[in-house]
Amino acid sequence: MTLLCSIALGAQPIVLKTSTMYDGKGGTRHNAIVVIEGSKITRVGGAAPAGAITYDLTKFTVTPGWIDTHAHIVYHFDNNNRSSGRGEPQMQAAWHIAENAVATLDAGFTTIQSPGSFEDKDLRDAIARGLMPGPRILTSLQPLDDHTGDAQKMREVVRERKQQGADFIKVFASKSIREGGQITLTQEQIDATCGEARSLGLRTIVHAHSAESAKASTLAGCTSIEHGAYITDEVFDLMAQRGTYYDPNIGLVLQNYLENKPKYFGIGNYNEEGFAFMEKGVAIVLETFKRALKHKDLKIIYGTDATAGAHGQNYREFIVRVRDGGMDPMAALISVTSLSAKSLNLDDQIGSIASGMQADVVAFDGNPLSDVNAASRAVFVMKGGRVYQNLAHGAQHAR
Ligand SMILES: [Zn+2]
Repeated sequence: MTLLCSIALGAQPIVLKTSTMYDGKGGTRHNAIVVIEGSKITRVGGAAPAGAITYDLTKFTVTPGWIDTHAHIVYHFDNNNRSSGRGEPQMQAAWHIAENAVATLDAGFTTIQSPGSFEDKDLRDAIARGLMPGPRILTSLQPLDDHTGDAQKMREVVRERKQQGADFIKVFASKSIREGGQITLTQEQIDATCGEARSLGLRTIVHAHSAESAKASTLAGCTSIEHGAYITDEVFDLMAQRGTYYDPNIGLVLQNYLENKPKYFGIGNYNEEGFAFMEKGVAIVLETFKRALKHKDLKIIYGTDATAGAHGQNYREFIVRVRDGGMDPMAALISVTSLSAKSLNLDDQIGSIASGMQADVVAFDGNPLSDVNAASRAVFVMKGGRVYQNLAHGAQHAR
């Protein structure tokens, strides 16, 4: 079965018949076909080539594969239903992690960026080998923080991560939202981290809640600011001016912690105080997001900060941004596709439906732009020309 499918995959073009298709860059096509050969889209529109395998997606809404620029793909609940910690058998951990990968892909997310764990690397490589289902993964491996050392040491660790196979660098420049989010690094340390990474061709994403930490990171030329619960209008202006990406996470991460409190409670700062802070945090980050939207030139990308319990629900960020945050649905779709791809420096390969791009295509039952909840109903998922999910009633798989 597997053998037959893989032979067919290489040998025959695939045609996706669509009725409403969003290209990820703001364009809408009606009744166009998408032609796929191997892993890539070779044509949009025109007539179907002879002998193609056809999937009829005309009952659905078709978009590029969605991208989550901040998902902790290896975080999971263990067999005792607790956020995983020390002492878990590695084999058990591996299967929970594999489930995260499958759930994420099935939800329509064909690429994620994980910031990050050493365990990401083997998962990334296993998925890239082609048999194991999961999203494309970019990882920072282990992040840098205020325990890493002085500026010189931070430069060294950046070089070390590159050697270890990191795709980008993640650095903590502030405390967590549970602890108030104050800055934890000096300007010199942030300059050293982002500067060294840039000189090696690596992007840098910075955990920064306070305005001060976000400002310092923007001045250092770091690529994106993650979370940013307390960023001021002045700093949003600076970020817009410098082209620094903003990756707010308002729809999934805190909600998921609160929904799964017993599974986290008692670990580190997941105490009563921490949970009280997170409960207040839901409204704080929503208000910050609404302010961010008023800065028209600010590049808002799509990250969820998904942790244990949240994988496969990455679409909830989209729903909250549009429904509660008031974001224009088309802008939200561009954010989760082409703009996030651009922030990863991968916009020439993913994030849009066009000739020459990787064939990452998702179909939703309903239209997420007019019915935001349809974002939760990915019924067809293709990544790199291969169909991983097909719940599409009426979709044909015939020659
Ligand atoms: Zn995170």
